[in-house]
Amino acid sequence: MKNVNTSVNGSTEVYAVIGCPISHSFSPVIHNTMAERLGRNFIYTALRVEPEALESAVKGAYALGIRGINVTVPHKKAVMDMLCAIDKRALAVGAVNTLKYTENGYEGYNTDVIGSYYALKNAGYDIRDKAVLLTGAGGAGNACAVMACDSGCRSLTIANRTVEKAEELADNLRKHYSCDINTMRLADIHSLEKCDIIINATTLGFGDKRALTPIEDRSFFKDKGVEFVFDVIYPKTRLLNEAEEEGIPTLAGFDMLVYQALAAEEIWFGEKFDIDTQKEICALLWEYYKENM
Ligand code: NAP
Repeated sequence: MKNVNTSVNGSTEVYAVIGCPISHSFSPVIHNTMAERLGRNFIYTALRVEPEALESAVKGAYALGIRGINVTVPHKKAVMDMLCAIDKRALAVGAVNTLKYTENGYEGYNTDVIGSYYALKNAGYDIRDKAVLLTGAGGAGNACAVMACDSGCRSLTIANRTVEKAEELADNLRKHYSCDINTMRLADIHSLEKCDIIINATTLGFGDKRALTPIEDRSFFKDKGVEFVFDVIYPKTRLLNEAEEEGIPTLAGFDMLVYQALAAEEIWFGEKFDIDTQKEICALLWEYYKENM
């Protein structure tokens, strides 16, 4: 009937992303698009939660029966103390970005690991047995490092401006994985002998650092035998443009963003998306993002 909105009703489930700030989040667009596409009766919203209110917010969400929550900056570590169980990959990263409602409390996951894995896999690049150079050792760097180790890379070199942070990450990874893990200062990467894939997880190339790149000397690509460059930043950065000019295939971070959201839905709803569906949803959202964001 005209003017009657039945899209939200008494059976509609609520999902949300919590963070501070949060109004910039693209997650509601992704998940509400998925709800409509898959005919699932849920809505997904973004809720601003101040750091001092996190514990009461998580308790309140559980009491309200909120079935799934995404967690973003600055809560990804603090929320780990409020969960009944934490997945092994999230423990290896040291951060949680997805909560799933269970009868014992919320379980914690880190879907940035799976999101970065799906992104590379769907781009046709297999990281198994490869020599990986990861630039950056912050939140995204931790997730990509776990993804590389979890996917069976041959070696992982973590290069960071603050080398102590790279060392801390490497020490934690060695507790969970047996692959060859090394660290260096970002300024020293030219001393690396060989590198099959570069993964950039620094903020170089983003926002006010748009003109910057972690690979200053573009002869690096050929000299080190680079086959593929993945940047967690989107849209396309200077790093990716220069790699492409050298004839190297690249991938920007938008796919990772979408696939980490799809991975959260897989955890919440217990259903896997096939590769064609993943790619189709990613392409649809990219068209929207390009025109509207
Ligand atoms: P973060 O935790 O703050 O880490 C920032 C990283 O960038 C650190 O390694 C930092 O090095 C490095 N860095 C910052 N300024 C630098 C400079 N001037 N020179 C050299 N290195 C510098 O941030 P994050 O959460 O990991 O996010 C990193 C990027 O990934 C952001 O651009 C974010 O938008 C993007 N991201 C994308 C996705 C996705 O789904 N595609 C997901 C998460 C994040 P120090 O340790 O020395 O400070």
